[in-house]
Amino acid sequence: MTKPRITVVGSINTDMVTETDAVPSQGETVRAKNFHTVPGGKGANQAVAAARLGADVTMIGCVGDDPFADSLLTNLQDEQVSAQYVDRIQKTPSGLANIILSEQDNRIMIVAGANQRVTPDYIKERQEAILNSDYVLLQFEIPKETIEYCMQLCKQHSIPVIVNPAPAMALAASAWDAATYITPNETEWSQLFQEQNDEKLIITKGKAGVSYWEDGIERAAASHPVQVVDTTGAGDTFNGALAVALAEKCSLTEAVTFANAAAAISVGKIGAQAGIPTKQEVEAFLT
Ligand code: ADP
Repeated sequence: MTKPRITVVGSINTDMVTETDAVPSQGETVRAKNFHTVPGGKGANQAVAAARLGADVTMIGCVGDDPFADSLLTNLQDEQVSAQYVDRIQKTPSGLANIILSEQDNRIMIVAGANQRVTPDYIKERQEAILNSDYVLLQFEIPKETIEYCMQLCKQHSIPVIVNPAPAMALAASAWDAATYITPNETEWSQLFQEQNDEKLIITKGKAGVSYWEDGIERAAASHPVQVVDTTGAGDTFNGALAVALAEKCSLTEAVTFANAAAAISVGKIGAQAGIPTKQEVEAFLT
């Protein structure tokens, strides 16, 4: 079978992950347990997920001119994601996420850096990648005009597009019409849609699984009982997997089943990308 072609337009970040029992309050210093520097960014995570899960993936994005840029590009190449449309922007830092991982919750600060340079004009010069895709994946760590531009471009050319509205950012109400599927987590769903439903929505609910609509009927997929090490990037694995299955013409229920399993496996390792499984691992998990 030929691999489906997926283009991801989005962020490429370095995740600086601090593991700690105690989270500092204002003015406080605490001793943390451990620190890791790992590749991340919702765009890159979803691109890596789609590639490991069996797609031919092209990333459109930007890195900066700092030492992080080299390792971010090397990582994409190692993961068989085409970085042909990823430029290095001079005098700009690469995107960065400062992640505090604790028993209580995850706290994340992101710095857009070069991700801010993924503008509509940048996309226009590289739009052949989008026009040659079976499916497109978008998230909200790049400028809003770019997201809206890509959604319209996909609509005009009848290219299906999954819009993962994370982190939440309001779009013009009419802009959502261009999405094929919209995949908020529960927090983003309540922030953006005031908990209202639409048949395009696929709502991920962490341990509570997934809600979606098929043939006008609301459906639910329960999560898999797994040992959780780090949930960072669970949603990204879900989105990458969903795109692969839909691009392979699976039904929505089959695609959600595949994505729910891939995301469950992904929470077993530290780092947004480390736990992303291969297609064989997901198939073995489901049998
Ligand atoms: P995000 O990572 O974007 O916040 P969620 O927390 O909703 O998104 O997680 C996305 C998906 O990952 C869930 O719908 C589920 O399939 C899987 N997942 C997340 N947390 C768990 C968990 N504790 N156990 C099993 N699966 C999980």
